[in-house]
Amino acid sequence: MSQAWKKNIRKVVPYVPGEQPKRKVIKLNTNENPYPPSEKVTLSLEQFNSDCLKLYPDPDCLSLRQVLAEYYGFSTENIFVGVGSDDVLSVAFMTFFNSDKPILFPDITYSFYSVWADLYRIPYRKIPVDNDFRIKKEDYYCDNGGIVFANPNAPTAICESVDFVEDIVKKNPGAVVIVDEAYIDFGGTSALGLVNRYDNLLVVQTFSKSRSMAGMRIGYAIGNAELIKAMNDVKFSINSYTLNQSSLYAGGEAVKDDEYFRSTVKKIVDTRERVRKSLEKLGFCCTESCTNFLFATHATKPAGEIFEALKEKDIFVRYFNLPRIDNYLRITIGTDGEMDMLIEALKTIV
Ligand SMILES: *Cc1c(COP(=O)(O)O)cnc(C)c1O
Repeated sequence: MSQAWKKNIRKVVPYVPGEQPKRKVIKLNTNENPYPPSEKVTLSLEQFNSDCLKLYPDPDCLSLRQVLAEYYGFSTENIFVGVGSDDVLSVAFMTFFNSDKPILFPDITYSFYSVWADLYRIPYRKIPVDNDFRIKKEDYYCDNGGIVFANPNAPTAICESVDFVEDIVKKNPGAVVIVDEAYIDFGGTSALGLVNRYDNLLVVQTFSKSRSMAGMRIGYAIGNAELIKAMNDVKFSINSYTLNQSSLYAGGEAVKDDEYFRSTVKKIVDTRERVRKSLEKLGFCCTESCTNFLFATHATKPAGEIFEALKEKDIFVRYFNLPRIDNYLRITIGTDGEMDMLIEALKTIV
């Protein structure tokens, strides 16, 4: 057999998500929220019955867009929703990055960006962050086919100011700038305030981290109506019914319970700062974090060894064996109890 079809298979090197172990472990490896979503979310799902399942969901996702529009002070035509921000970002790449010029993103950032660029055959250039892992905005003041960066950045945890973001957006009126704000609720200031002034800015956020709903898969983008319309045209050319009925239902309820949202975010931020001090006492050094994780390196013990030793003790953190960051661990902030167990384990390891 010739198997000539093989040469026509799309060759991709996929993104590797953090491990989801089948047994119970202390799971500090994929930046999920250790607290459950608002009770309103659970209650709304209890009312959810089989009648809700037999019909297609609203392809315009209007109920959820309305709640988000009201919460953030925009109109529904400024809001795109998708199956997690991974879906939203993927649609945005396909929609906006169609130039022959390379798109730009930091060398150390969310590793999905290069995967989508390869998948959609978008040329790209990785721009090195400086030795303190900070993005240098001047490096983005050049001809390009688009820009994407995470702010706060991952896995570095570092957040830049709104002025910093604005400078990049302002210097690139000819390109769409995507700011991935997956972690913005844990301490950064969002660039959403710039959306009405810059038609080339798209801000992407998610329910997976600060709203405790990684399992529901809800993400959204906010930008000017023309950007959002273009994304919807692409979405409706692939799959009209992306968000399932229960996500549309429960997502809105999560946003409405703002008090609960703020209280869990505050708990995580408080735990983060306490854990940072404990880690420093053990000889770790962490970047300044505006996220629900710490990016830590140890003075003497290699990160890869600490990662393995923690895993032996059923404590999962994330280790990226990549240039420049291969001596760092990314540690998700769990509950206080989980973090105490982490610290106890580290005392015997380092
Ligand atoms: C977690 C994460 C996402 C994706 O989150 P979804 O669960 O798909 O919403 C996107 N960008 C960054 C930087 C992330 O850390």
